[in-house]
Amino acid sequence: MRLVLLGAPGSGKGTQAARLKSDLGVPHISTGDMLRAAVKAGTPVGLKAKAVMDAGKLVSDDILLAMLEERLAQADAKAGFILDGYPRNLAQAAALDDLLARIGKPLSAVVKLDVPNETIIGRCEIRFAAEHRKDDNPEVVRDRLKVYAEQTAPVADFYAQRGKLQVVDGVGALDEVTARVKRALAAAA
Ligand code: AMP
Repeated sequence: MRLVLLGAPGSGKGTQAARLKSDLGVPHISTGDMLRAAVKAGTPVGLKAKAVMDAGKLVSDDILLAMLEERLAQADAKAGFILDGYPRNLAQAAALDDLLARIGKPLSAVVKLDVPNETIIGRCEIRFAAEHRKDDNPEVVRDRLKVYAEQTAPVADFYAQRGKLQVVDGVGALDEVTARVKRALAAAA
């Protein structure tokens, strides 16, 4: 299973990916988690990415693609993956298509978690209070939602045009949302 989870920040991609990975037997690959780890470790990528992430903007496509290629080359990704946070714009979607075409392993499914902005803002406030992620600060969340609408929403259209997109209602109890995603994956198989 090679799955892309799409959705706005706070739509539950990470939470759902963590619940699905053992069922699907594939790793959860979150580009946001990888970047946060790089920032924490003070690597060259982390040093470049920190200010951009804190401002809620997108880190450069070159950095992301290099990071992703390296991660997908690891042994555990041979069985597939759940991608969370990538692609974030059309250039990244095209780069992912190219990369997967080169290895002859196209995406199996793309699932978008649909959550209204008011719910997103509330969820990010709760996460800000719990985890103190700078980019969950309400002002930055508004900027992230703008970046999402302008740059990431077209990615859903990109996959819809290719007949790959499944949209799932991301509001409700965690178990219910997980069940909806599983139903969408069964329908895509
Ligand atoms: P996330 O945890 O997915 O919300 O990502 C946190 C932050 O990491 C984003 O707001 C971006 O600054 C950066 N980031 C994560 N994934 C990407 C990506 N695919 N392209 C560019 N920036 C990214």
